[in-house]
Amino acid sequence: MESNLFTKMAADQYENIFFCYHQPSGLKAVIVIHSTVLGPAGGGVRMFPYRSEEAAIEDALRLARAMTFKFAAAGLNVGGGKTVIIGDPKTEKSEALFRVLGKFINRLGGLYYAGEDVGTTPEDMSYLAMETPYVANPPEGSLAPLTAFGVLCGMKACARELFGSAELEGRTVAVQGCGSVGQALIELLSREGARLIVADVDEAKVKKAAERYGARPVAPDAIFSEEVDIFSPCALGGVLNEKTVPALRCKIVAGSANNQLAENRNGDLLYQRGILYAPDFVINAGGAIYGVTRCINGETDLERIKQRVAGIGQAITEIINISKKENIPTYQAAERFAGKRLETARLVRGLL
Ligand code: NAD
Repeated sequence: MESNLFTKMAADQYENIFFCYHQPSGLKAVIVIHSTVLGPAGGGVRMFPYRSEEAAIEDALRLARAMTFKFAAAGLNVGGGKTVIIGDPKTEKSEALFRVLGKFINRLGGLYYAGEDVGTTPEDMSYLAMETPYVANPPEGSLAPLTAFGVLCGMKACARELFGSAELEGRTVAVQGCGSVGQALIELLSREGARLIVADVDEAKVKKAAERYGARPVAPDAIFSEEVDIFSPCALGGVLNEKTVPALRCKIVAGSANNQLAENRNGDLLYQRGILYAPDFVINAGGAIYGVTRCINGETDLERIKQRVAGIGQAITEIINISKKENIPTYQAAERFAGKRLETARLVRGLL
């Protein structure tokens, strides 16, 4: 089979791909470092039963690149990386698997910091931490509540732009995915007085959201076409695609999922349809900001960390302004916004 990995690396300026294999523990993982221009790379460890090795590598590449832009847009001096483990998180996890991965990460000597992601938990991160200091695992627990808080701040910035007020009281929000972030977001939105519509492939999670927060459940394939103010994708990537974008009946898309646009042209279509899209890597940076400021920069004041996460609202407003000024879709404006910091870092580095 012909491999085009180096072509892909060249096209988007990737630095490294590390393949990690350990037969006794069953570990098959890929660590991608997209860029260390801003500093050592950071990014979560995703565990997923990928249908092929190619699909796993592809996911790691896309996610690592998004991390570079996420940290750049968040104003942090951290580069972009990601780990994917090929395996089913429900049946194939073990202490040994994560400790072995920890040893591989340790070999990189600080080039890459790991963290929690889809399919992994703070407990899994604690196994990594037995073997390496290069893991961001806040002692207070999961990153998801701060990710949800950042999404809320970004949503409010979008609401201020479109409705003239950041108030979400009485606004209808459709949340796709009631997992760690989705659930935390549903709670925050319910406190704001928003009307909630929810969907998840896991019926128990939907039931919980309905019972606790009075959310109206709909089928997973019906959530896209609900008439709402805000659609909030908090499940998996690729959700904004040829099929879903024409079916949307919302004014704003603002959610936590990574890589929401299946392809850039779906971002163009959102723009043409007048739907305000809050770029994923900007609005979902709350957990990453928390992980880095708490575990790498050593900030212990949670209120200060929260204030930093709230800056996501300001970043979204700046991106909307770029989009309006340049007449470009927000996903392009976000790449420009983050790209400016990367350019500055390259320039400064060039001086040394
Ligand atoms: P999670 O696994 O806890 O939750 C995802 C939820 O989506 C699950 O409940 C799952 O059943 C549901 N789901 C899957 N397919 C679905 C479908 N087709 N329709 C409806 N629901 C579906 O993950 P999470 O940590 O809540 O993360 C959610 C998203 O946010 C992911 O894309 C993740 O990459 C992104 N993200 C998470 C964080 C974080 O702090 N956890 C940070 C940044 C980005």
